Amino acid sequence: MDDTRITKSDGVKIVSNMTDYTSLSATFSWTDARALVDGLPEGKMNIAHEAVDRHVTAGHGEQLALRWITKSGQRHDFSYGDLQREANRFANVLRARGFQKGDRVYALLGRVPQLYIAALGTLKAGCTFCPLFSAFGPEPIRARMEIGGANALITTARLYERKVKSLRSALPDLRDVFVIDDAPEDTLSLADLMRWAGDAFETEPMDREDTALLHFTSGTTGKPKGVVHVHEAVVAHNWTGHIALDLRAGDVYWCTADPGWVTGTSYGIVAPLTNRVSMIVDEAEFDVARWYETLESEGVTVWYTAPTAIRMLMKAGTGPMQHHDFAALRFMASVGEPLNPEAVVWASKAFGKPFHDNWWQTETGGIMIANFAATDVKPGSMGQPLPGIKAGIVEKDEDTGVLREVTEPHTMGELALRAGWPSMMRGYLHEQARYDKCFLDGWYLTGDLALRDEDGYFWFVGRADDLIKSAGHLIGPFEVESVLIEHEAVAEAGVIGIPDETAGEVVKAFVTLRQGFDESEDLRLDILAHARKKLGPAVAPKEIAFSEDLPKTRSGKIMRRLLKARALGLPEGDLSTMESDET
Ligand code: AMP
Repeated sequence: MDDTRITKSDGVKIVSNMTDYTSLSATFSWTDARALVDGLPEGKMNIAHEAVDRHVTAGHGEQLALRWITKSGQRHDFSYGDLQREANRFANVLRARGFQKGDRVYALLGRVPQLYIAALGTLKAGCTFCPLFSAFGPEPIRARMEIGGANALITTARLYERKVKSLRSALPDLRDVFVIDDAPEDTLSLADLMRWAGDAFETEPMDREDTALLHFTSGTTGKPKGVVHVHEAVVAHNWTGHIALDLRAGDVYWCTADPGWVTGTSYGIVAPLTNRVSMIVDEAEFDVARWYETLESEGVTVWYTAPTAIRMLMKAGTGPMQHHDFAALRFMASVGEPLNPEAVVWASKAFGKPFHDNWWQTETGGIMIANFAATDVKPGSMGQPLPGIKAGIVEKDEDTGVLREVTEPHTMGELALRAGWPSMMRGYLHEQARYDKCFLDGWYLTGDLALRDEDGYFWFVGRADDLIKSAGHLIGPFEVESVLIEHEAVAEAGVIGIPDETAGEVVKAFVTLRQGFDESEDLRLDILAHARKKLGPAVAPKEIAFSEDLPKTRSGKIMRRLLKARALGLPEGDLSTMESDET
């Protein structure tokens, strides 16, 4: 941590949605943010109304809402009016198939228009929308569909055949699978159904506390957690988009997040649409030349991306940037994993403006800590709490169990937030005890270690638990270990994250073998292939090492932190405190 800052008052005058951070933070209340969304009669609400209907009613139906760039580079535009009609059709399809308020509609899709249409149509119909990561293998998909009791799924023929078909009998709640291309047996063609569906639909007025979104996140132990968000969350999506991403009506906004993770919904669908921007949606995966071309040719004004991608851009050097003009670009932000200070400084030179790092989690539903357009950027810091958010560093007294807020600057502790903002999760599905464990003395405990400096900027130190962040994806070691020990040769498995220059961390597994199996390169590759097939390449270990035994606690739990310390040649620390939390 050093004292470098990128000062906003030097150089060009910054015009942003927030002019004075200190005074807004002192006076802001969530009632003010509630006034920025419409709501529905009798105190009801619906995220889809705020995202689309109200703009159309206000006469903005012709404005570009979404420009889809196909892999081959073709452009397809959807105005707010188009998006409303398509979402209405999808809501009518759901009704025609018997889906009612509260039913759970899952999506297993990449960046295609049907994803956005399904999300909005699902919300309009009062159903719960749950996106899944399309690079997941069958096992993480099965676990998440089972826990959430998926009633419908929208996907492609290829994803269905490869990942879902074999699970159908294990998912009794799954009534319909809608396929966006050629529908295989036992699925429905979405295009056929949409063709006959009406394009008018009265958006379901929901109670503010009704469930709208279900997102899965990983725990250190046990199954993945189904994080429940309600319609009221839109108040925070809208506000944080306005303040932390500086979104304004008419902006050309590009969020590169995968739609299967929370950023893809909160800032890939909801916040941009409620702020009435025009979204760029690129079907293709990361590609240096294509990204620079897109930024320039689309005239992107606000760009929200992630450290792994930024590091890959940096690696490619400034060569591919030459002959591009990024004059339209006003604000650049990053999220999901620590953003190295060098990346912020590099961007300041390469683009003439820094990346603004911000911090949040699936559970918080929206951005909580940020470097803002109007405030100085401290490279390497996550920034300051949003107006409306109180963040602190806390420490638990092990004897009394009492939580103490650490006020001395530069002292490491757990990052905690004062509970009570609109997009805070309302529960972990079916897991009250796990949810309750996140709160103590009015604080929500984030599981991250951090410190605060004398100016109130927060600095990420690491996770307090064993979760792994690889290329921005949060991976639970338990889920990986469970699949590894299904292999006939594996007796035990311990999974950790090891540092990686580009992806931040990569998954590494240590396995012990059952009697009768001998270590060999063929066996190692076979275990790797088994993990990739079941978990998908984004979650499976990149490396597997054989081990004679694994370090365990007295109660027999694998001590991942010790495994990691040994793997990285770090001090092994106080072993008596190494039992990991059951989160
Ligand atoms: P997820 O719930 O998958 O969005 O992951 C949330 C976790 O990602 C946080 O608890 C952090 O560990 C990490 N994270 C998110 N944003 C940042 C950031 N700006 N800097 C460092 N870590 C981050």
